[in-house]
Amino acid sequence: MKKRNKKDSPGIFTRAVHSGEGRRKYADSLITPIVQTSTFVFHDTKDIHDYTSKKKVRFEYGRYGNPTQRAVEMKLAELEGAEDCQLFSSGMIAITTTLLALLSKGQQIIITNDLYKKTLQFCKDELPRFGISCSIVRVGDYQELEETINDRTTLIFTESPTNPYLYVLDLKKLALISGKAGIILLLDSTLATPFNQRPLEFGVDLVIHSATKYLGGHNDILAGVVLGSEKLISKIRELHKTLGGMIDPQCCYLLLRGLKTFPLRMERHNRNGEQVAAFLENHAKVKRVYYPGLKTHPQHRLAKEQMDGFGGVVSFEIKGGLRAANRFLNRLRLCYIAPSFGGVETLIVHPASVTYYDLSRRERLEMGIKDELLRLAVGIEDPEDIISDLKQALEVS
Ligand SMILES: *Cc1c(COP(=O)(O)O)cnc(C)c1O
Repeated sequence: MKKRNKKDSPGIFTRAVHSGEGRRKYADSLITPIVQTSTFVFHDTKDIHDYTSKKKVRFEYGRYGNPTQRAVEMKLAELEGAEDCQLFSSGMIAITTTLLALLSKGQQIIITNDLYKKTLQFCKDELPRFGISCSIVRVGDYQELEETINDRTTLIFTESPTNPYLYVLDLKKLALISGKAGIILLLDSTLATPFNQRPLEFGVDLVIHSATKYLGGHNDILAGVVLGSEKLISKIRELHKTLGGMIDPQCCYLLLRGLKTFPLRMERHNRNGEQVAAFLENHAKVKRVYYPGLKTHPQHRLAKEQMDGFGGVVSFEIKGGLRAANRFLNRLRLCYIAPSFGGVETLIVHPASVTYYDLSRRERLEMGIKDELLRLAVGIEDPEDIISDLKQALEVS
């Protein structure tokens, strides 16, 4: 069976069900309970002493951690093949806390130009207010990346695959560049998930996911996670305790529940994604499809080398510009018009009118966001039903 952490460790389906939870739980419950408490009780002063002298590992206060949360963290660490993990209340607070924990005044971060919109905004507009400079290099330009590194560079932060164009970066090459310079390589791997890509195996130092997407998987929670070495995670955890972007126990439980079927859902997202991408590529009304699983994708070979599947996000350009895009969207009956991806329902967004509505057409085009671009987040429905919805909506557009 593939996707094992080590030779003798269980496969990813088994890990998704069992890891992190332990065999014996409160009141002989099979399921990990929701520990709905803001604080934890010390039974006497010896108990306090055992805790503060690190003789006993336990919980102290809700902002510092919770047993339901820890179960999710350990399951995620097992899925990613990471030493440790920290969970947050959203992907963005995972990103901002991580960056603030690892960067200081006078240092430089290098990012790629097509990061998640709010990540880009934080790096470009907020970090410089704290004396941290941000250099932006074109995605896939490894030479420019190397040339941008200087003695103040502390961190490289990028995504693979990217959103909405699904550009695939060479993780080995990135790790070689960052390793040689002795800087931290941070990767937002949300689009790939640990089912399709395990960046730590390629030498990436820290992996971030918006667990709002595939890991949660049901479009009902927001959560974020960072994974990597114990040393780096503990540094991030310390600042997290101060900044306080905690996830609550109920939400942890929903994530824990969602994770049990995560590999099953991913198999389906991968299969549906491939079928929908192939359908769109052969449709006369579609100008271009962006999906790493297609042979026509510019980094298809690289994607096949470093990924086990390509997920459910399929971007495409429709012929006939803005008007055709609007007509198409208004005719959909199964797919919902909504941002986000990774859940069981198929969603579609029109980046020009949703994510980038606040920019002028010229600014959007400079960022590569064309009017005719649509991003489909294929769910786990029957592929024939998704395809037939797309087909009938494309007919008149
Ligand atoms: C959604 C997303 C985020 C932000 O995560 P939230 O959970 O919405 O805060 C960051 N990066 C990527 C790639 C995303 O798709």
